[in-house]
Amino acid sequence: MFFTSTRKNCEITASAAIAKGISDDGGLFVPSAFPRLFPGELEALAKLSYKERAFRILQKFLTDYSADELKYCVEGAYEGRFDNNDPAPLQEIAPGMNILELWHGPTCAFKDMALQILPYLLTVATRKNCPGRTTVILVATSGDTGKAALEGFADVPGTRIVVFFPGDGVSDMQKLQMTTQKGANVAVCAIEGNFDDAQTGVKNIFADKKIAEYLEARNMEFSSANSINFGRLAPQIIYYISSYCDLLKNGKIAAGDAVNVAVPTGNFGNILAAYYAKQMGLPVKRFICASNRNNILSDFIATGIYDRNREFYTTDSPSMDILISSNLERLLYHLADGDCELVASLMQELKENGKYRIPDSIFGKLKQEFYGGFCDDEETRRTIKCCFDKYNYLCDTHTAVAVNVYQRYVKDNGDTTPVIIASTASPYKFAPAVLSAIGGNGMESDGFTVMEKLSEASGTPIPAPLAALRESTVLHKNSVSKEAMGEFIKSVLA
Ligand SMILES: *Cc1c(COP(=O)(O)O)cnc(C)c1O
Repeated sequence: MFFTSTRKNCEITASAAIAKGISDDGGLFVPSAFPRLFPGELEALAKLSYKERAFRILQKFLTDYSADELKYCVEGAYEGRFDNNDPAPLQEIAPGMNILELWHGPTCAFKDMALQILPYLLTVATRKNCPGRTTVILVATSGDTGKAALEGFADVPGTRIVVFFPGDGVSDMQKLQMTTQKGANVAVCAIEGNFDDAQTGVKNIFADKKIAEYLEARNMEFSSANSINFGRLAPQIIYYISSYCDLLKNGKIAAGDAVNVAVPTGNFGNILAAYYAKQMGLPVKRFICASNRNNILSDFIATGIYDRNREFYTTDSPSMDILISSNLERLLYHLADGDCELVASLMQELKENGKYRIPDSIFGKLKQEFYGGFCDDEETRRTIKCCFDKYNYLCDTHTAVAVNVYQRYVKDNGDTTPVIIASTASPYKFAPAVLSAIGGNGMESDGFTVMEKLSEASGTPIPAPLAALRESTVLHKNSVSKEAMGEFIKSVLA
């Protein structure tokens, strides 16, 4: 099992792909062929725990990791890190309508599913490729990814993590989540500026030769926890296969039955993982790709033209406010049967003109597999209310976008195949919008009061990690200008 780049043929191992993160040609690493589930394997996996399923599935992709190494990764990531020890429970809220809850990890959002295991996959990869070296994870965050990366990397041997966030650009709760982070290897720092300043600062540091030498002298190296790393994609394949196994186990479907998958989409990582599961043999009929008002992907699926020359909106589902969906490059590569020259030229067009059009042959395949739709904030809130009133199920703003688009899909197509809808955040993570949607006042008070009101109104408990924030101590009070980010890193690593 080898990996290649989406832009230029090469052949590298899984651990090298994970250690490198991105290919030197700017392309993303993809499996050169997909491992297949063997006949009867889904039924066999249905009898196992999530951890055992994870081990079996990862083993198919990460063939240069030993069984012991993979066990170490899976144990470290999933043992005791998720509430009730089921990382991805499935809730059937109406017949055939299954919500896959991906937010039972330490930060209450789906990034935990990958960022809990990435540090282990990465440190094992480093040990294989450059033994003894410390990996320094550098993150610029607009909120959620920073906290999920901190929780994942905190106290993982062989790693350090430095997170920069815009001092005025994150919510009070997000700030509190980051500045109270424990761990001997973590550093968190506010930037005097906005998210772009933080992001640009981090990019400059990655390219700064002097800082690279400074790290080299200490046997350290920068890496990124960015969602383009295959080490973040692989763990996401697990829960699609696992949820299918749960449906089998509970007698909701029979072996071989098809399901649909609906995903609230931003960077295209989560839905791509579902597509990968299908390439392995999971019977998925249609991928329902749901966007918010930033509907670049639903336009793409409708027209075959990807065009980022459009207004950017901030919405109630901020983790999907995105105009460049990086992982789409991987899908194009697979739909084009590995034509890396075509992918490279499309990405060049995107860089130069902000748009590209895919050839008809690929467009045909895209439309066959994917359905795209979007909804605005008003429809999102109406969907939250409707789910709550009709199914007694409280969902967050991102999940609601997927439910809304799924319902439109059923209306348009009359397709009532059982569906797995990815639920990407706890409703408490976006409590003000969710509380307003079900008729409360989400605007009036501080974050904790809003969560309490949501709990009263919905009869659901506040997730422990969010409730605990009230009692936790602020440990990180640094704030620097964007010019001083490099110096901050040096002082932390000295
Ligand atoms: C990151 C995120 C998404 C988007 O997932 P992609 O893999 O980037 O498409 C959706 N919802 C939430 C809550 C997220 O944090």
